[in-house]
Amino acid sequence: MHDFRYVAGQLFCEEISVESLVKKHGSPLYVYSQRTLTSHYQRLDAALSELDHSICYAMKSNSNIAVMHTLAKLGSGFDVVSEGELRRVIAAGGDASKCVFAGVGKTEQEIRYALDQGIYAFNVESEPELERINRVAGKLKKKAPIAVRVNPNVDANTHAKITTGTYENKFGIAFEEVEAVYARAAKLKNLHLRGVQMHIGSQLTEVAPFATAVRKMQALVEKLKSKYAFEFFSIGGGLGIVYEGALVSGAAAWWKRPEAREILTPSSYAQTLVPLLKGLGLRVLIEPGRFISGNAGILVTRVEYVKRTGKKNFVIVDAAMNDLLRPAFYDAYHEIVPLRKKRGATLSTDVVGPICESSDYFCKDRPLPKLGEGDYIALLSAGAYGSAMGSTYNSRSLAAEVLVNGKKSALVRTRQELETIWRYESLATWQQPR
Ligand SMILES: *Cc1c(COP(=O)(O)O)cnc(C)c1O
Repeated sequence: MHDFRYVAGQLFCEEISVESLVKKHGSPLYVYSQRTLTSHYQRLDAALSELDHSICYAMKSNSNIAVMHTLAKLGSGFDVVSEGELRRVIAAGGDASKCVFAGVGKTEQEIRYALDQGIYAFNVESEPELERINRVAGKLKKKAPIAVRVNPNVDANTHAKITTGTYENKFGIAFEEVEAVYARAAKLKNLHLRGVQMHIGSQLTEVAPFATAVRKMQALVEKLKSKYAFEFFSIGGGLGIVYEGALVSGAAAWWKRPEAREILTPSSYAQTLVPLLKGLGLRVLIEPGRFISGNAGILVTRVEYVKRTGKKNFVIVDAAMNDLLRPAFYDAYHEIVPLRKKRGATLSTDVVGPICESSDYFCKDRPLPKLGEGDYIALLSAGAYGSAMGSTYNSRSLAAEVLVNGKKSALVRTRQELETIWRYESLATWQQPR
């Protein structure tokens, strides 16, 4: 599941002590395990081997170009949601012809760029978008490959902010309207109806909602396939990962029992879904983000202060919600462990950042070992929607990032220099510098 574990009381990423990395590169620091990324990709790939399939990694979860390069080398395509992301794919050595372009707000410029780069398909989220893609493709004298994103109206049973497949959401086209939309799309001359797509939500912890959605889609997909000679069916991403209890204790090498701490294993996912998909005779795409990157990264931070109030024990660290927004944004749980294993009693603790917001916290009233100034702790499972959602709120620089590969490590994002935070700002013409 991941390659972070204690070795002789010290947290290691693969063959390297995390403390040695933070001493070298400073704090806060994201640390990614290449072996974990690779294993997640390969295990999914292997589980789907019975199908003609491709994996389009949802790069919005972690778009560091070194992370992406690791996956591109393994043959991964990418699920992109902006021109910036597609440019990153190319910068990372990926292949636009393996990419799908999602999102409800694609601009004309983005469509033009993606067509020029030879995108595999646009996942279209509305009728006006179909018309826009048709128009832009016409100007470029190209045929734009498209798939309609179907909203199957299946409840994914996950956090409201990451549910996408019900009619409460802005995403996709309602199941009942899909046939009519394809019929209209078929009349637009510059479109190539290449497939159909769905994505029901994120952090799904059971295979059942996926199965419900695929079953609901089966007959429709078969019908559309025979009508329009489809090539693919994308079933989206959303595979959930373990957040609570993410650290495997004991020395057993994780890759011997990778499923031990997974809630949704590639094999259970495949066992249920492959039989439903096999008969369709289509290439199956999946768009996992979190499953690949989530447990492959941690955020390391230094304890700056311990502050005891009448009610609380606050541990104030040098990372904040600008580095890892998930607790503030989704009430997300991240396991917190010290880099040096501690013995002794635990203490009910709030770990908080220095930002001037009450929501700037990483945990509340959690039993943690007694921590003191200068201790380093790691927030686990921070590889997805961590650094990627980073901001410079409070004029804090974006954290540094390190990729580990066995005994090797490399800085893959330099800590942002403070001056660059306001580089694109200027005084108004009527103002004078002091
Ligand atoms: C976010 C997203 C994904 C990836 O979701 P994960 O939960 O990270 O797997 C896949 N497809 C689409 C369309 C998305 O918006």
